[in-house]
Amino acid sequence: MDALSAAQLQELRVNLLRLHDDLEQLLTDSAASSRTVTLDQPIGRLSRMDALQQQAMAKANRAASQHRLKLVEAALSAIRQLRYGECRRCEEPIGYPRLKARPESPFCLDCQGQIEEER
Ligand SMILES: [Zn+2]
Repeated sequence: MDALSAAQLQELRVNLLRLHDDLEQLLTDSAASSRTVTLDQPIGRLSRMDALQQQAMAKANRAASQHRLKLVEAALSAIRQLRYGECRRCEEPIGYPRLKARPESPFCLDCQGQIEEER
């Protein structure tokens, strides 16, 4: 896999900054909806279960967004340290196509696969 060109790096940096803003916005918007459902209202057992389920889903989505935001922030600091695009495990270039799809990827495809197998 080739290292990134200056133009590719610039493009991915813009993508990361946009992603950062989007995720922050998403987390702000979802803060209200994932707040604890008040269960003392007489809403019935079924709708109460629905509410709890929705709340659990909103929480899981928020956790995923928070995790992704951390990866985005790590990628932005990697750009500042001129180490962006380098796999944090094997130090090989991650490759533009993968970064284009997920600019916050900290690992190359091979390492990502191995990490998922180890889980
Ligand atoms: Zn790797």
